[in-house]
Amino acid sequence: MPHLLALTAALLHLHDASGFHAAPLRGGALPSKMVRATTSKMAADEKYDVVVIGSGPVGSTFARCLSASGEAFGDLNGGKKVLMVDAGKKMSEKTGEHIKNSLLYQSDHAEGKRLFSQLIAGTIEKISKPWTGSSIDNINPTANQPGCNQEPKKKYKKWNMNLQNPDQEQYYNLPEAAVSYKVGGMGAHWTCSCPRPHPELEMNALFPSDGLYTMAEDLLNVNQNTYDDEIRNVLVGDRLKETIDKELDPKYPSQYLPLAVKRVNEQYVDWTGPSVILGDKLAEAAKDDPNFTLKQETICKKLHFSEDGKTVEYAELFNPKTGETTKVYADTFVACCGQVHTAQLLAASGFENDANGRYLCTQPMYFTRLAFGNDLIKRIKAKTGKRFNDVINAWQEKNPHDPIPIPRNGKGSGEVQCWIPVQKDRPWHCQIHNDNFYYGTNTSPIDDRLVVGLRWFAVPKMSEENRVTFTAPDNADGYFDMMGMPQPTFHYVEEHADVDTIDAMAKDLTKVASFIGTPIPEAATFVQYLPGGNALHLHGCNRIGTSVTDSVADSNCKAWGVNNLYLGGNGVIPKGIGCNPTLTSVALALRASMDILGVDTSDTFHTPVE
Ligand SMILES: Cc1cc2nc3c(=O)[nH]c(=O)nc-3n(C[C@H](O)[C@H](O)[C@H](O)COP(=O)(O)OP(=O)(O)OC[C@H]3O[C@@H](n4cnc5c(N)ncnc54)[C@H](O)[C@@H]3O)c2cc1C
Repeated sequence: MPHLLALTAALLHLHDASGFHAAPLRGGALPSKMVRATTSKMAADEKYDVVVIGSGPVGSTFARCLSASGEAFGDLNGGKKVLMVDAGKKMSEKTGEHIKNSLLYQSDHAEGKRLFSQLIAGTIEKISKPWTGSSIDNINPTANQPGCNQEPKKKYKKWNMNLQNPDQEQYYNLPEAAVSYKVGGMGAHWTCSCPRPHPELEMNALFPSDGLYTMAEDLLNVNQNTYDDEIRNVLVGDRLKETIDKELDPKYPSQYLPLAVKRVNEQYVDWTGPSVILGDKLAEAAKDDPNFTLKQETICKKLHFSEDGKTVEYAELFNPKTGETTKVYADTFVACCGQVHTAQLLAASGFENDANGRYLCTQPMYFTRLAFGNDLIKRIKAKTGKRFNDVINAWQEKNPHDPIPIPRNGKGSGEVQCWIPVQKDRPWHCQIHNDNFYYGTNTSPIDDRLVVGLRWFAVPKMSEENRVTFTAPDNADGYFDMMGMPQPTFHYVEEHADVDTIDAMAKDLTKVASFIGTPIPEAATFVQYLPGGNALHLHGCNRIGTSVTDSVADSNCKAWGVNNLYLGGNGVIPKGIGCNPTLTSVALALRASMDILGVDTSDTFHTPVE
């Protein structure tokens, strides 16, 4: 009964009379400082085979493959008793449904999109907040930070008022890095773009094999044909073929964007959220399912290691609503809390590995929004693309006063979803579509059917110096986030090579834009470089590798030096990529699940192109 022994040891040495307890740190190597005990009640200990922390697309992949209650996925059905924990709450009937599948957000392209982008803005929490200064000049001094201005300056130097982090230097910040605390994580409202990285320019030998990518695509319902019969998509796709394709490697031409989506009918689609990944059996699992338990609004505060640091003995879970702390024992623990928050949990747990938080990568991004040029409209009006004539005629008959011959809903009304893959001399990934970020919402008076966004993401270089750090939770000078976890401090600067790429990428975006239409001159969206972290594709900061000196986990995502801790999420991606990361992270989670189940993973690795 190893967990009972651990429990006894914990009780014996943790508490002192002051109401503080010593933070047990891995291997005892870090100084054992004092932590204020929460006022929480202790719940009875629990035991599972596997504890998965985080319920986003990656946590859901682990749960699907490992739980005995899940539908088998290929050969993967782990037969295990799984607990999945998330700091956020369920937002849908099924666990982790994509919120955009609501009628509201798909009923009309324009209005639905505007509402959905507001929902996203209201649900992602920016995780880095530099100190903005704390005084107002023209307020009665008694109200200006009451009390603080009368106290010695030094004493309050470290106060993280309004969650602002006094250690965060503005210049080295990633101001748009974010987290989405909800069951399903960011996967409950992501855009579902799922391209594979370029085999030569983006991948190395640790990336998934083609076979593993195909498995991940099956799990996510990825395809390129859901929008292949939509007027605007064909129009833009054809224009790219006539123009930019002349500059592209014929092996990587412009094409429709691979998307994790399934068509329901001519109007509606089902975007893939974690509910699809979990499969119906887990997504609808009853509360008393013996092999799958979801604990929502439960924060994993810490993983507690054995004395020698080689085993995670239990996870410390805290539910702020019930005030209960639970020690959960398991054979295997999987941390997939999102790219930065996995590093955060490891840091909060006293996990020692200097690579944790390092090699942080973010894709520099350029964006613009266009109105279709007259020539594209003329093409539709002239009905040269004969395949759409029936649809256009039917729309015009019903709407004789509409000057734009594109149906607003139903058949043919679907959106633009085009892609120009990364290639030599063009180390950037290009998406041409309308997305739902706040900066992508059409607030102009132009008819939405004529508006499209261009997003260019550069392939970033990974560097040891670019990192995120966290003060130890037992540090009196530490700062904490909304969940009471150590707040991230970013130390990030674009590599010189990236700066040249960014410049070339901006010129390319302007050129491709000119093939399609004309930028809409709104202050927020006219061809612009987006603040760091905007892609929400941070990766690398707990990367897999071949050596403990420059990576956090081995090639199967098992944390170095710990025999029962696996990591998942974009943080494990071992090399800077320009394309969207989730497909790769899900594929890496499939490999990790195989390893947990004792399946040989040796044929799941990418063969580098010579
Ligand atoms: C608007 C938007 C559009 C996007 N579009 C795309 C796209 O088109 N393609 C793409 O590849 N990617 C896209 N992304 C990114 C994509 O959503 C993420 O890559 C993906 O969700 C990562 O999955 P994950 O499971 O690793 O982490 P997440 O989805 O971030 O889930 C992590 C979960 O962990 C929980 N958590 C964190 N800390 C703790 C803790 N201590 N205890 C308990 N729970 C914790 C959080 O509440 C969260 O639910 C987009 C993101 C956003 C916001």
